[in-house]
Amino acid sequence: MAGNLRPLVAGNWKMNGLKASTEVLRAIINDYDAALAGRVDLLVCPPATLLTAFADLAQGHRVAIGAQDCHSELAGAFTGDISAEMIADAGAAAVIVGHSERRAGHGESDADICAKAKAAWRAGLLPIVCVGETRAQRDAGQTLAVVERQVAQSVPDTLPADVVIAYEPVWAIGTGLTPTTGDVAEVHGAIRRQLVARYGGQGESIRLLYGGSVKPSNAAELMAVEHVNGALVGGASLFAADFLAIARGCCG
Ligand code: PEP
Repeated sequence: MAGNLRPLVAGNWKMNGLKASTEVLRAIINDYDAALAGRVDLLVCPPATLLTAFADLAQGHRVAIGAQDCHSELAGAFTGDISAEMIADAGAAAVIVGHSERRAGHGESDADICAKAKAAWRAGLLPIVCVGETRAQRDAGQTLAVVERQVAQSVPDTLPADVVIAYEPVWAIGTGLTPTTGDVAEVHGAIRRQLVARYGGQGESIRLLYGGSVKPSNAAELMAVEHVNGALVGGASLFAADFLAIARGCCG
């Protein structure tokens, strides 16, 4: 675990979850005991349809609720989209932007993602900006160049509030594959150096999450890597016991 930053474990539920899934959140809240809550932050990002119900259930507890994407505009003729302000109005505190499934499946550019991060701040939300290379880019030796370009262009030049960056190799998402701890250390170290060069002291305090096939069995090893300040978890976050076991893995 890197430095003194308080780890964050965020669950990305993707397009999973119905009203009955509030039971999973209830279990997470109930089992997020004081010892764990004293050491690691938890964030659950359900689909937009469940934001209000989840935020209502989490109210008064220490589990935060986030969305998986937002539009950069305040309001208007954008059928099917939701604004950062709507997410905040639903009671959420954070939003994932630039997930590789949005970059690839919805053609989102670094500039789009940068605008979404600014929209998140405008609405008082914490943006979690995702970056990561494809398998082909890794095989071509382009990992650091790709990730550094994504960080440079997806994270705004000035930071009026907190931001989190999630390094998620595209080939590790949902595949059961993970990079070696050495590979994770190389990328997270490079992102940290880039942030410090760009933002000075502020760059030291930005939490860097690792994401991609994190599960209870590999969480402790991945979370022990320098400059890894938590995890962005997909599939395993749908199960309260697994999600909490990953959170415990952050505690050394
Ligand atoms: C993700 O979608 O952000 C993710 C990391 O998924 P998984 O944990 O299932 O690989």
